[in-house]
Amino acid sequence: MIMGKTTKKVKRIRIDTDKCNGCRACEVICSSFHAQEKYSINNPARARIRMVIDPLNNVYLPVYAGEYTPAECMGRDKYVVDGKEYEECAFCRASCPSRDAFKEPDSGLPLKCDMCEELEEDEEPLCVKWCINDALTYEEREEEVDEEEETKVEEMEDGLKALRDKFGLENLMDGVARLSKKD
Ligand code: SF4
Ligand code: SF4
Repeated sequence: MIMGKTTKKVKRIRIDTDKCNGCRACEVICSSFHAQEKYSINNPARARIRMVIDPLNNVYLPVYAGEYTPAECMGRDKYVVDGKEYEECAFCRASCPSRDAFKEPDSGLPLKCDMCEELEEDEEPLCVKWCINDALTYEEREEEVDEEEETKVEEMEDGLKALRDKFGLENLMDGVARLSKKD
């Protein structure tokens, strides 16, 4: 079978740092929504978004958890924002071995923003809804992708969902953690 191109919906959140006041409501709702039992706890250490806050310099920057990386990068650039110097890692989205950011505190498994995928199709991600300062804006666009690659990703996600439904998320995560230590 010859596969061609297809389109997929790309979701993103635009950040307006001028509107953010560092209230951290985004971290609270994200960690609460993704708790094992929904809304049972809120712990920003489990959030898939984290605030870089420097009140003396009026810096309030939400950073979304991105991809897991098995090795730390070689880049050590510095950023200067309003006269204050920051390490490159301060704004990095990766879950990486060199720091604790974007890792489950108990298991150490990587956390990644999933755009609150369990919500209904027409609902906006919760951090966007909870940001009363409109610092976060949800956007969608269609993008052309390789159909074969897309099919593989969908099959993998279906497989993971079936395992989660059969064994429960906690057991599945434990199993993945054990497997990752064997490599
Ligand atoms: S909820 Fe909005 S204003 Fe509050 S910290 Fe998050 S991005 Fe900033
Ligand atoms: S979109 Fe959802 S998963 Fe991503 S940071 Fe916001 S609340 Fe968390």
